[in-house]
Amino acid sequence: MPDIATPLPDRARAQLKSVFGFDAFRGRQADVVARVLDGLSTLAVMPTGAGKSLTYQLPANMLEGTCVVISPLIALMHDQLRSARANGIRAATLTSADADWRETQDAYRSGQLELLYVAPERASQPAFRDFLASSPICLFAVDEAHCVSEWGHDFRPDYRLLRPLMDAFPDVPRLALTATADRQTRADVMAQLGIPDDGLVLAGFDRPNIRYAIRHRDNPVRQIETLMAEEPGPGIVYAPTRKKVEELAAKLAAASGRKVLPYHAGLDAEARAANQSAFVASEDMVIVATIAFGMGIDKPDVRFVAHVGVPKSIEAYYQETGRAGRDGDPSQAVMFWGAGDFATARQRLAEIDDVRRNAERARLDALAGLVETAACRRAVLLRHFGEDPAPTCGNCDNCLSPPKVSDTTELAQKLLSAVYRTGQSFGLGHLQKVLTGVEDDRVRQRGHDALSVFGIVDGEEAAMIQPLARALQARGDLLTTEHGGLALGEGARAILKGERAVAIVVPPRREKGRRRGDAA
Ligand code: ADP
Ligand code: ZN
Repeated sequence: MPDIATPLPDRARAQLKSVFGFDAFRGRQADVVARVLDGLSTLAVMPTGAGKSLTYQLPANMLEGTCVVISPLIALMHDQLRSARANGIRAATLTSADADWRETQDAYRSGQLELLYVAPERASQPAFRDFLASSPICLFAVDEAHCVSEWGHDFRPDYRLLRPLMDAFPDVPRLALTATADRQTRADVMAQLGIPDDGLVLAGFDRPNIRYAIRHRDNPVRQIETLMAEEPGPGIVYAPTRKKVEELAAKLAAASGRKVLPYHAGLDAEARAANQSAFVASEDMVIVATIAFGMGIDKPDVRFVAHVGVPKSIEAYYQETGRAGRDGDPSQAVMFWGAGDFATARQRLAEIDDVRRNAERARLDALAGLVETAACRRAVLLRHFGEDPAPTCGNCDNCLSPPKVSDTTELAQKLLSAVYRTGQSFGLGHLQKVLTGVEDDRVRQRGHDALSVFGIVDGEEAAMIQPLARALQARGDLLTTEHGGLALGEGARAILKGERAVAIVVPPRREKGRRRGDAA
């Protein structure tokens, strides 16, 4: 044990080794710990797996008084509790799932707890405030702090109750922790929780060993099978629904001959646990899962993460792809998206209230920007998290084979005008026929062969209609109606009036027929 005269940083390092068994701090852990030990309030933004828990567990172990940890999910709290106790830290939880409240309360009151985990909904209860006041507190740690912000992707109203609670203990420093905070969310979290502007510690978000690629989805089974052939190691495939998970798992198992298991909330707890532990133990298995999978699992050698469909946001994308390559070895993150993914997400916007809608729309726009960019994916990602990255990384699809960008302003005007003139109720197939001058029964019956837009697109340009429609849908300039027709979105007017240019990435040729073994 270091004596009390040792300066704090050295003492912290000694405890790091003796309590946690680690030789050195990682990333910006030391900066966060130093601030906490100095009694300064802090927002620590660090990627998943960076080691956020240690930044309050270590001070809790060193300082007088209990560290009160606010955490949104009981399951997460219990995971944390187990790992803290495994390190010999005196910790307890006060949740609706605990039976030992009295014991925990007694331990707290007599100053025996280093860590006390509580759910945010406790925070508003006056009795709970009195209880906390019964013993000294050294720190409030707010885990998943983005939940306090409506800009965050996971707003929880209960988090708003934390501020009054913490304000009742003005001398206790605050440490807010999150893996997912863009600039706006970050500023909001700091304002909501009363953390000074100079209290931000932002760790590097770059995961240089992950190769990012984002492609259009034409045949997901074949596309993922190709990826599996390239990457014989363990992989995670995220699919949007339980049904798709089951379907894909079965087809991929049949197509690849490898072990492929499903994971989703519809499976019973036993099957879920069995599939998860099989995956964690395996060196070549693929798990097809809904986003319910991955939280809290520790598997460093995941070689690829594939998305069939778009994730909820850039934050979610980063978090989900971040499960690849924790061991630092080369890994891939590949997203296979379709226009329908954005169409569905944008349709849902209509169903929510104004404040949430603006935040959701901004999130979708940012995601569309990443999906559609011709520039370095990593640079777009890192800029989103407030970093100032190099313009190219050399390890994403766009850096490795720079895509061609085409000015499609005129074609966009023709397409949007056809959408408008046919009454904003027809699907892309019909619109393509009208634009390229194909006279089938439906076209004739509706009199669409008499429209000024009939047959105004030819040859080369015709091949661009589909990718253009995809891009316009991703951007929200084209919307999908509830009957599956296309309608004009918010930006359509500006395009039609010639006030806005439209450029899109030209998809690689032979997108459809490519097979494994073909030249890249
Ligand atoms: P986060 O909450 O940021 O996602 P965790 O706190 O769960 O991350 O830590 C992730 C892993 O990193 C854990 O297994 C933890 O023991 C390990 N870890 C944390 N700090 C260090 C360190 N300084 N050196 C080595 N491993 C560490
Ligand atoms: Zn790049």
